[in-house]
This record gives sequence, structure tokens and C-alpha cells, in this order.
Amino acid sequence: MSEHILEDVFLKRSQQKKKTSPLNYKERLFILTNEKISYYDYDFEKGKKKSLKGSVDVEKIKCVETVLPEDNAPTERLFPFQIIYDEGPLYIYAKSDDIRRQWIHKLKNVVRFNKDLAQKYHPCFWVDGIWLCCQQEVKQALGCRVIETKNGGFNKSRRKTRKPLPPTPEDMEEKISRPLPPEPPKTNDLVTVVAEYDYTPMSEQDLQLRKDEEYTILDKTDANWWKARDKYGNEGYIPSNYVVKTGNELEKFKWYCKSMNRSQAENLLRTENKDGGFLVRDSSKSGKYTVSLYTKPGGDSPGTCKHYNICTTSQGQFYLSEKYNFGTIPDLIHYHQHNSAGMVSRLKHIVSVQSPNAPSTAGLGYGVWEIDPRHLTFLKELGSGQFGVVKYGKWQGQHDVAIKMIKEGSMSEDDFIDEAKVMMKLRHQNLVQLYGVCTKQRPIYIVTEFLSNGCLLNYLRETIKRPTAIELLEMCKDVSEGMAYLESQMYIHRDLAARNCLVDHNGTIKVTDFGLSRYVLDDEYTSSAGSKFPVRWSPPEVLLYCKFSSKSDIWAFGVLMWEIYTLGKMPYDRLNNTEIVEKVSNGLRLYRPQLANERVYTIMTTCWTMKAEDRPNFQDLVLNIQDLLYELQEG
Ligand code: ADP
Repeated sequence: MSEHILEDVFLKRSQQKKKTSPLNYKERLFILTNEKISYYDYDFEKGKKKSLKGSVDVEKIKCVETVLPEDNAPTERLFPFQIIYDEGPLYIYAKSDDIRRQWIHKLKNVVRFNKDLAQKYHPCFWVDGIWLCCQQEVKQALGCRVIETKNGGFNKSRRKTRKPLPPTPEDMEEKISRPLPPEPPKTNDLVTVVAEYDYTPMSEQDLQLRKDEEYTILDKTDANWWKARDKYGNEGYIPSNYVVKTGNELEKFKWYCKSMNRSQAENLLRTENKDGGFLVRDSSKSGKYTVSLYTKPGGDSPGTCKHYNICTTSQGQFYLSEKYNFGTIPDLIHYHQHNSAGMVSRLKHIVSVQSPNAPSTAGLGYGVWEIDPRHLTFLKELGSGQFGVVKYGKWQGQHDVAIKMIKEGSMSEDDFIDEAKVMMKLRHQNLVQLYGVCTKQRPIYIVTEFLSNGCLLNYLRETIKRPTAIELLEMCKDVSEGMAYLESQMYIHRDLAARNCLVDHNGTIKVTDFGLSRYVLDDEYTSSAGSKFPVRWSPPEVLLYCKFSSKSDIWAFGVLMWEIYTLGKMPYDRLNNTEIVEKVSNGLRLYRPQLANERVYTIMTTCWTMKAEDRPNFQDLVLNIQDLLYELQEG
């Protein structure tokens, strides 16, 4: 039986599935597992659950959000939330805001890879045939408030078709060469999408994409490569991360800089240096948007950046300044392009990334994982590591790539080659993408995405000067999001550390070398007593029993946060490996870095909880870091 994630007695509103059924409220015992949310009749005297009254399959859930309480709601109905699934909304009333938040948090966690998560929802109730927020009279009517979000938020993975369940502790135990979960069956719903980027076919089976044109999706069996048809009837495979569903209006506006965080926005606005320069980006708070605005007094005085969250009224209207509400974000921006209305300036100049870099594709074309070495040009040596030299080069003369040339005898090659097909399917904006391998010659090559700012450890030590609290936390957020994705795929990194993260041209951090340590042929590296074993990043259960899991990755993440906040210091620099094993097993922990406040340090120390099962998971960390970031930005 599936493990209970949460259990609580709540008031449940009748679902009024039939028009004539009365509106009533009953107390039910709700139990959430990875598969279902079920509710039962409850014997209050005995404190026992009785008969099952209903349940919703987790995979059918499209949205979990709060609901605004009805006017003059009685005390027991002050904290409603909604679970939207194919039969409509299920309304539940929590006893407190905290409990409601906890349930929404966990529910969002278990459904986060569901396909077709809603992009909009209704903030008010459906009552007697009408949505109170927008007055629409159709129960299935599209929501009127956007819950669109990026980076780790609820809707982030709406383009994925695979639905992995969050790992249980047992799942997270070592599983060598375990294939990814089976792909879902073909879907028949023909959706229309719009290309966000141009895509030039890289294999014969691919279809060309032209930015802003529409395509019909024919098959989503492969989460990374969808089969599509263009308006001329040509069919082929396209990278699923290059398109968005139509109706996702913001994507087409020049001022919308989707994958941009606060620091990147400030850098861009300062570089443009135009009074009234602005852009709109996803807020660090899931589902919200922020307007970043730059103002500059005359002369040589430096300009300042201000960030305004786009707020929503209980009716689902958008506003920056409470008096001026709009039905859509584009309408709101249009208005403020002409009126400052409460802001330091009107929005005078659109600042945007001219041609945003297209994201990485999972491989260089559909079905391609063996790369022809004749298509590679070697341009520069980047460094060398455990497996030998790494070079920067081009694939087909135009795509930047990094090429690891695997020194003979350093890797268990056949095992790695088997695993490479699995690794290629892992795709996330905070993971360094594996593009393919050249295995027909020796040395073999591993070809990956190239990141121009190199390794995070050097970046911390040499490049960034006096980082702000927000920049430091944004780095942690990037890593936690990449790791939350790996965790959701039940993939254990085993060597997470700043040296195994890379930095792109924008300062975005991506995790690399996940799972690779399993293929190293070097006792000094693989044995926990070896001189190259990552003792300083390992929890007691790894040091003592070699027990790797996503929870041992969590420990390493805490140490990586510490590296970030010390700008690349060596953890426990006064201790040797033997001393570390002994002292850490007896409770010694890294000190609080000067740049880390108590709350940031608390996140690190929870990662260093002695018992693996008591450590948080990455999805929880993402949410905690997002909250902290949001508070910092607000403050
Ligand atoms: P190994 O896996 O063999 O230990 P590393 O991954 O440590 O090798 O790579 C060695 C160095 O090469 C890194 O420190 C980094 O500076 C550089 N490098 C590796 N991969 C990339 C990449 N994808 N983009 C840019 N630089 C890279």
C-alpha cells in the first residue's frame, strides 16, 4: 500500500455533480498518498476512519489552489482550497491557514509532473451554476487567473508527459542502470503549439520550427521530442521545449523575458541604461509576474531598478497600482506604458533579450545519441578532470559543445554507454545537457552542452565580486531546481559539489556529471577510504555504509550551499579525511558562513540532519528557497 503523505479531518463541500443536489458540508477524513487523495466517513468518538466516500487519482489533478472564502464565511469555512480534476472542483476547508498551506504544498509536489496542468484557475467558488469570480456559467470554463510559472513552480513541467512520482525512501536507494519509467501511451488530443524559437533540423526525422508559427502536435510519446505537423503538412520531430501551447499569450510579447531572474533583469536594465527601461519576468513566487523597471536621473548619476509584483484582485483582475485593474497582463502593461499611475515612472522602453538563446535539446536531433566525430571541431581546451581533457568545440560548425575525451582506462565504458541513453533523456534548465557520445573510436567522447563561465567553484573564487544576498540565493535555487528534477526521476547524483556545477553566460548554474561517478575506474575515487572520495560532501551513512540516496545528495547540497556562501572555501579545511569521518559521524557540522543569515544557515543544517529520512527533499528545498528569495526581494 502506498505511504500516507498527509492525513487530516476537513470540511468538504458537496460537489453538486447533479444540478439538483443540495449544497452541504461534511467532515471527512482526507488521506493523501502518491496515488490518490481519498476521503472517508469518520468516527469522531473512536477516532477511526469508516467507509470510503470518494477519491481523486493524483494523476487526474489539474490544479491545486486556495479559494477566496465566501462573504461572511463562518469560522469553519475560512480557509478553503480547491483540487481541480476532470470532474470539476473539489472544495475542502482547512482548519487553519498553516494546515491549508501544508496540504497545498504537498499536493503541488505530488502532481507537479502531471500532464496538462492548468495554466489558469478560478480564484472564487463555483456556486449554483456560476463562477463567482468571472461570472462564467460553464463549469469547465477556463480559469480567469493565470497560474503560469517557471523554475520549480507548479506549472513548470506542463510540457512533460511523463509523470514520475516523488521518490519514497526505498525508491531512493541505489538503483544502478535503472531505466527511466515507461513512457505514457500515445495521446490522441491534437494540441496546437507556437514555436518560441527557430529550430533547424539536426536529424532527418526532425521538423523545422519557425519562431511564432503554429504547429499541431501529433504524438507526445517521447517527452523531449514531439511529433508535429506544420501548416504546410510537413511532419517530423521537434524539441518539446521549443514550443508553448497557444493561448499562452505572454510568450509573444517582446517585453516578456521568461527565464530571467531578478539579478539578470537588473544587469540587463543597467546595461541598456535607459530611463524607463522595463521588462516583465516570472516572479520567484510561483505563478506570479514581476515588472522590473529602471529609472535614471539626468547626468552621470547611476540609475536604480525597481521591481513591482503584478497583483491579482479577488475577481482575477491584474494590477500594479490598486486603482487600475485590467483583465489581462498585456492590457496592464499597455496602460502603464502610457501612465506611471503610482510607479516611479511609466514603462518607457521595452528592454528584451534580442534573440534569446534557444534552450538545449535532449540530444542533437530526434533519436540521435551516437555522434559522428567528423562533425566535431575542437577549438579550445577547457580543463581536465577525472576522465581526462575537456575541450570546447562546435558540432556541425555551428553549435557550441563541450567534449570530454575519456582517457583510456579511466572509465568503465560499456556500462557508461548503456547508461548514456538514459542520461540523454534527462532534460532540465538547471542540468548540463548530455547531447550524445562518440563510441566507435578510442578515446570515446562525451558531448555535452557548453557553459561559457566554466566551473562554479572557480566562478565563486575568482569571478564574482561582492555578490548580493539575492544572487547567492539565486545560485542555490538553480541547483535545487536541477536536483529536484533529478530526484523526481529517481536519479542520484552521488558527487554533488561546486566543482560539479557549471555557470552559463547569464550566471545561471547547471548541475553536471550526475551519476558519472559510478563509471570511474580509480579506487582512490570510488572507495570511501580513497584520497579522491568526496568525503567532505558525504553524510555519515555514505561514509560508514556507502548508502547513496537522494538524501545523501541533499547532504551534499547543504555543503554546496556552504561553498556558495563562503565563495568557494574548502569545507572543514583544517581536518583531514579520517578526522572528518569521525567528527561528522559524531555530530560536527560546518559553521555558519558570514554571508549566510540564520535562515539560510537553517536550510543548510536541515540538509545535515543525521538521519537520512529526516532530511528534506529537494522539492521542499526549492519551495523554501523560493519563499526566502521572495521575502528578500520584497524587503
Ligand atoms: P571530469 O568529468 O573528467 O572530471 P570535469 O567535468 O571536471 O572533468 O571538467 C574539467 C573542467 O573542464 C571543468 O573544471 C570545467 O572548467 C571544464 N568543463 C567541463 N565541462 C564543461 C562544459 N560543459 N562547459 C564548459 N566548461 C566545461
